[in-house]
Amino acid sequence: MRLRLIYSPSVVEKPILATVILKTGVTINILEAKVDAQRGELVVSIPTEGESLQRVIEMFQDAGVEVQLLTKTLQIDLERCTSCGACISPCPTKALRFRSDWTIDFDEERCVACRVCVKACPVKAISIP
Ligand code: SF4
Ligand code: SF4
Repeated sequence: MRLRLIYSPSVVEKPILATVILKTGVTINILEAKVDAQRGELVVSIPTEGESLQRVIEMFQDAGVEVQLLTKTLQIDLERCTSCGACISPCPTKALRFRSDWTIDFDEERCVACRVCVKACPVKAISIP
């Protein structure tokens, strides 16, 4: 499960992520981070589910962090795709790459739904519903 964690100014400097990892034993992988003195936004991948996932979410919420679930799926219209590669290098998480036959491969686990590839595609082959 991927989550977007939004830290307000009052909690942005607290070691909340490390505390959640230590207390739950769940390894949390940071996919994207935008943090400054005023605000923090992380997209993380959490390799657990059920009660364990719920506990992780509640710990972030109890610590004052807003939690959003990222459940979208990127859609690539392979009929439209011309294998131009314009979507590959701008992707910040390397979620897109060419297969050996030059078709586009998409790694759902890496995607953070930033929409950069949607804007980069010249033939509008990519969408996020
Ligand atoms: S939305 Fe596109 S550019 Fe952004 S992470 Fe996902 S695949 Fe990469
Ligand atoms: S930018 Fe669009 S047309 Fe080009 S490879 Fe990516 S999906 Fe295909």
